[in-house]
Amino acid sequence: MQSSSLMDKLVSLAKRRGFVFQSSEIYGGLNGCWDYGPLGVELLRNVKEQWWRAMTLREDIEGIDASILMHPRVWEASGHVENFTDPMVDCRECKARFRADQVEDSPCGSPAYKGRKASKCQAEGKFTEARQFNLMFKTFVGPVEDASAVVYLRPETAQGIYVNFLNVQSSSRQKPPFGIAQIGKAFRNEINTKNFLFRTREFEQMEMQFFVKPGSDEEWFGYWKEQRLQWFTGLGITPTKLQFHRHEPDKLAHYAKDAYDIEYEFPFGWGEIEGIHNRTDFDLSRHEQFSGKSMKYFDEQSKEKYTPFIIETSAGASRSFMAFLVDAYREEEAPTADGKMETRTVMRFHPKLAPVKAAIFPLVNRDGMPEMARSLETDLRKSLRVFYDDSGAVGRRYRRQDEVGTPFCITIDSDTLKDQTVTVRDRDTMVQERVNMDNVARYLNDKLQ
Ligand code: ATP
Repeated sequence: MQSSSLMDKLVSLAKRRGFVFQSSEIYGGLNGCWDYGPLGVELLRNVKEQWWRAMTLREDIEGIDASILMHPRVWEASGHVENFTDPMVDCRECKARFRADQVEDSPCGSPAYKGRKASKCQAEGKFTEARQFNLMFKTFVGPVEDASAVVYLRPETAQGIYVNFLNVQSSSRQKPPFGIAQIGKAFRNEINTKNFLFRTREFEQMEMQFFVKPGSDEEWFGYWKEQRLQWFTGLGITPTKLQFHRHEPDKLAHYAKDAYDIEYEFPFGWGEIEGIHNRTDFDLSRHEQFSGKSMKYFDEQSKEKYTPFIIETSAGASRSFMAFLVDAYREEEAPTADGKMETRTVMRFHPKLAPVKAAIFPLVNRDGMPEMARSLETDLRKSLRVFYDDSGAVGRRYRRQDEVGTPFCITIDSDTLKDQTVTVRDRDTMVQERVNMDNVARYLNDKLQ
């Protein structure tokens, strides 16, 4: 399938079925902002829940939820005020504005530099000089809008973890090596937003910062690199669509000793979904320097005092959401009730991520079937998100559930009235099994684990 047509299909399915809507759509939308609909919010919550469980069910990781607005000195210490910039250029001909390092895929339609590098076009006088543009959103605390009231919407969640390192360490009585995990919104005033949820101005991150004794950092870096890749494959992402991309030593961020991106092969090409970075003692040292407060850890046993190194795993919740969405999408040939073949669209979400776990159908709306179906629904709803559907032919109802990735469809038919069994149909194999009504909840819970 053509990559553009696959993206168009996904964006349209996402809207039609309530996964993702354009923000403020009735006003023409707001660039780089999206809203998660009823199914999207479930999928996103499931992604975050799986991440949170993978992190915090361990004894060596604690959770935190820091505020979005922080003291402005945080962003001076972190280097964001000085360095969190992208070079921005304008095209004098078509007035398009974009990142100087991404001219190749700019939206500018000018034939003068189609397919050419920025430097060449600048030589031809088509571009303005590159200006550094800080990506942090600025706002003000309190009623007076002057320089002393400036604060920033956090561009990453990590700093909330660093400044709380000793609070968490002492209150939870952890010792390095240990980590702090956080999920939260981050904001970046990206020059160009593009590719649906891939590059947005408001997004969510799932970050875990692991504090280790200097010298053990390389080993932990290797460990977390593998763990994070396995998290994606464990939730069903096609392994051949994932790769590591190592940052070349001369391209490393100012704080990093080593860095790998986990990339997913999106329809528009490979793109980073998570970064794993060895940040050394940069962050804690800088906060110590800027705040004047010690950020060192004192090891009671060895009587050593040191600044831990940090191994960071930084994933985008929204970008991961998009990778799960893209990866799940299939168009397959499937038989209809009368034996013909038709194309079905099926979202093969991992059952743990699927927004709806099971759909319940009475075969017909009479003979007591709706009552039995409603009673099963009430029972299942106590622990699972389920959907009741009694409209249209059963084949059509299956297709509607396939399209949103519901792993199981349960039908109450005339046999149910006789022997209390229902059919449970598996989304992927389309095989149907008869299960006793009393055992359906246990059956589903086993399959969903
Ligand atoms: P990029 O090079 O794509 O701008 P980055 O290297 O700046 O990304 P990090 O600062 O390492 O990204 O952020 C960690 C993660 O946060 C990324 O892997 C990505 O999943 C997510 N992320 C970063 N920027 C955005 C954005 N504008 N929209 C959605 N997700 C983002």
